Amino acid sequence: MLRSVLLSASRSDRLKQVATDAPPARALVARFVAGETTDDAVRVTRELVDSGRLVTIDHLGEDTLELEQAEATRDAYLALLDGLGEAGLTSSAEVSVKLSAVGQALPGDGEKIARDFAASICERATSLGTTVTLDMEDHTTTDSTLSILRDLRVDFPDTGAVLQAYLRRTEADCADLATTGSRVRLCKGAYDEPESVAYADRSEVDRAYVRCMKILLQGAGYPMLATHDPRLVEIGGALAVRTDREPGTYEFQMLYGVRTDEQARLASQGERMRVYVPYGDEWYGYLVRRLAERPANLTLLARALVSKG
Ligand SMILES: Cc1cc2nc3c(=O)[nH]c(=O)nc-3n(C[C@H](O)[C@H](O)[C@H](O)COP(=O)(O)OP(=O)(O)OC[C@H]3O[C@@H](n4cnc5c(N)ncnc54)[C@H](O)[C@@H]3O)c2cc1C
Repeated sequence: MLRSVLLSASRSDRLKQVATDAPPARALVARFVAGETTDDAVRVTRELVDSGRLVTIDHLGEDTLELEQAEATRDAYLALLDGLGEAGLTSSAEVSVKLSAVGQALPGDGEKIARDFAASICERATSLGTTVTLDMEDHTTTDSTLSILRDLRVDFPDTGAVLQAYLRRTEADCADLATTGSRVRLCKGAYDEPESVAYADRSEVDRAYVRCMKILLQGAGYPMLATHDPRLVEIGGALAVRTDREPGTYEFQMLYGVRTDEQARLASQGERMRVYVPYGDEWYGYLVRRLAERPANLTLLARALVSKG
C-alpha cells in the first residue's frame, strides 16, 4: 500500500519541485543520482573507478512517447560514451539503456526505432572498447526487449540483458541466455506486476533468485548479480566457488548510493563490483522508486521534504 502511494508520488510534479527547492532534499538526490549533466556522470564514474569499482551508467528517462525525445536520449548516450572515451574510462565503465527511452513504446514502428537507436549506441560503445546492457522494464516489454537483444547480439555480441527473478518465466530465460559470451544481469525486479506473471511473496522471489543464480553460474555466460540483499550476495559468492568460477568471470552489481560500504568491501576482496550510476534531469521518479524499496529511507525523504533547509 505504502509502496503504491510512493510509486504514485514518483509521478507528482509538485513533489518534484519541493525536492528540487529544499537543500536537504537536494542532498538526498545527490546520494542516489550522479547529477544532471554528462560531466557529472563522468566525474562520479572517475571517483568510483579510482576506488576500485566498475560502473554502468543510466541516462535517466523512460516511456518516451515522442520521436524527438528518443533521438535526444540516443544522442545523450553518444555524448556520454564520447565523454567516457575522452576521460579514458571505457575499460571500466559501460552504459545501461532502457529501450522505452529510445522509442520502444512509440506507436507503429517503435520497436524498430528502439532497435536502430540502441544499435547506434552499441556501435559507438564497441568503437570505444566498452559495452551496453539493456535494462528490463515491465513484463509487457520482456519479449520485445529479448528479441531486440537477439538482433543486437548479431553485430554486438557483448550486449547484455537484465532478467528479473520475480517473473515466473525467468528461469527459462536464464537457461536460454546462459551461453558463451552472453552477459546477463540478474535482479529481483522493480515493477508492480500481477501475480499471474510474477511471484508476489518476497521469500518466493528470493528463492527464485537463487535458482536463477545457479543456472547462470553453472552456464557458460557472464553473470552479473545485481542485488543489495546480504543473504543473496553471500549465496552468490558461495555458488561462484562451488561452480569453479574464476575471478573475473562474473560480477556483483549495486546501485549508486546503496550499501556503499558493502560495495567497497567486495571490491577490496578482489570481486568485480559494478555500480549502476543514474544521471540526467529526469531523476525524480527514479529517486522515489529507490526510497520506496526501503522503509528506513522514507525517514530520510520525510525529513528532507519538511525541512526548509
Ligand atoms: C545494478 C542494478 C540494476 C538494476 N536494473 C534493473 C532493471 O533493469 N529492471 C528492474 O526491474 N530492476 C532493476 N534493478 C532493481 C532491482 O530489481 C530491485 O528493485 C532492487 O535492486 C532492490 O532489490 P534487492 O535485490 O536489492 O533486494 P531488496 O529485497 O529490495 O533489499 C534487500 C536488502 O538490501 C538492502 N537495500 C535494498 N535497497 C536499499 C536501499 N534503497 N537503501 C539501502 N539499503 C537497501 C537492505 O538491507 C535490504 O534489506 C536493478 C538493481 C541493480 C542493483
